Amino acid sequence: MNKAPLFFLLLVSTPLTFAQTATPTEVEAVYPAAHELYLDIHQHPELSSHETRTATMLADKLRGLGYEVTEHVGGTGIVAILKNGSGPTVMLRTELDALPVEEKTGLPYASKVRATDDAGHEVPVSHACGHDLHMAAMYGTAVIMAQSKNSWHGTLMLIGQPAEETVAGARAMLADGLFTRFPKPDYAIAVHVTNELPAGIIGIVPGVLTTAADSLRVTIYGKGGHGAAPNTTIDPIVIAARTIVTLQTIVSREVKPGEMAVVTVGYIRAGTKNNIIPNEAEMGLTVRTYNPQIRKQVLTAIERIVKAEAAAGAVPRGPLIEHYESTDTVYNDPALAERLRPVLETALGKQNVEKTGPISFSEDFSYFVDAGVPSLFMRLGGADPAKLAEANRTNVPLPSNHSSYFAPDVEPSLRGAIEAEVSVLQNLLNGKQSSSMQR
Ligand SMILES: [Zn+2]
Ligand SMILES: [Zn+2]
Repeated sequence: MNKAPLFFLLLVSTPLTFAQTATPTEVEAVYPAAHELYLDIHQHPELSSHETRTATMLADKLRGLGYEVTEHVGGTGIVAILKNGSGPTVMLRTELDALPVEEKTGLPYASKVRATDDAGHEVPVSHACGHDLHMAAMYGTAVIMAQSKNSWHGTLMLIGQPAEETVAGARAMLADGLFTRFPKPDYAIAVHVTNELPAGIIGIVPGVLTTAADSLRVTIYGKGGHGAAPNTTIDPIVIAARTIVTLQTIVSREVKPGEMAVVTVGYIRAGTKNNIIPNEAEMGLTVRTYNPQIRKQVLTAIERIVKAEAAAGAVPRGPLIEHYESTDTVYNDPALAERLRPVLETALGKQNVEKTGPISFSEDFSYFVDAGVPSLFMRLGGADPAKLAEANRTNVPLPSNHSSYFAPDVEPSLRGAIEAEVSVLQNLLNGKQSSSMQR
């Protein structure tokens, strides 16, 4: 279903109380190019840290608009700066990477790409998280901002961040001087598409938006041998199985009811053959929390249980616990959220801006916030409203991000993202902001 005419109507029927906002005509004018870019990126997805074509293409396009573009920042990252007199520096971030997921949406422009991952396996690749939409929106926003320099002043900083899905890219860009070689922004913004909200709607979450995520790899060392002579072995599979079951008691028995905590064992790897007891077993865990104290409590409990279960199994050597990835919660500055909410309501219509609760996903955008930049990370509705209503009625959720079937309703989502980004940027980069706030 095409909801563009309705969206257009909502925009024009809304009284424009702020001067600085993208007009429907501006969005209309840029939409075909943004959509074309979307289709291109969607059909050429690249895995985390390998976004070379994507980065080059986006860099060339932004350079063509007059932005000063630096490539290879923290790997394949790009930084595009547009200076427009004195004033604040505001950063808009998009991710560049896709996922090792086979697209099964059946769309005419579905990805057929396959690539070799870092472990040497051939994998299907697709933009199952919607980062292609974020890039297309950034491009549309970049065009409007370059064409409307008389309505804002300061420094606009657009960044294309690699490797969000491996939570490595934000850290790599910062380590490569993102906030020292380039101006440190006064504010940062980003959007992420979700099937939990109707297409084109902006969801605002003041305060904690996403969970902290911790990735752990646990190796339990046993003593291998013949499957028919278990008495001569120390079976790491049995110890791993017991460990997994005990780990389930952390959330159910140790964490205070009502506090958010997730402990998931996403894989277990051990053994080669049914009649051989292997030497070791490996498990991969993901831990999600909102509260730093709970995070510490859960991580400490995991370590205690893993060690204790191994000791109970009389292992020849203590288990190895590797904490190989982590990211903090994304914290939306409440004052900034409060300031930008009426701006978004004016631009998109009050009914298209929703205050929503935090989500159980994670994001390495947290590194920019932790570097001391007040930020607003907006949720962008991507679901066909009719399908979402049906999903809510039947309690069968729509395919989430990372699903093979994830397919945002492109037109309203992309228009909504551009409209939201431009209105927020123009407000933050407008000297009249204080008078607007005093209304
Ligand atoms: Zn993702
Ligand atoms: Zn994502």
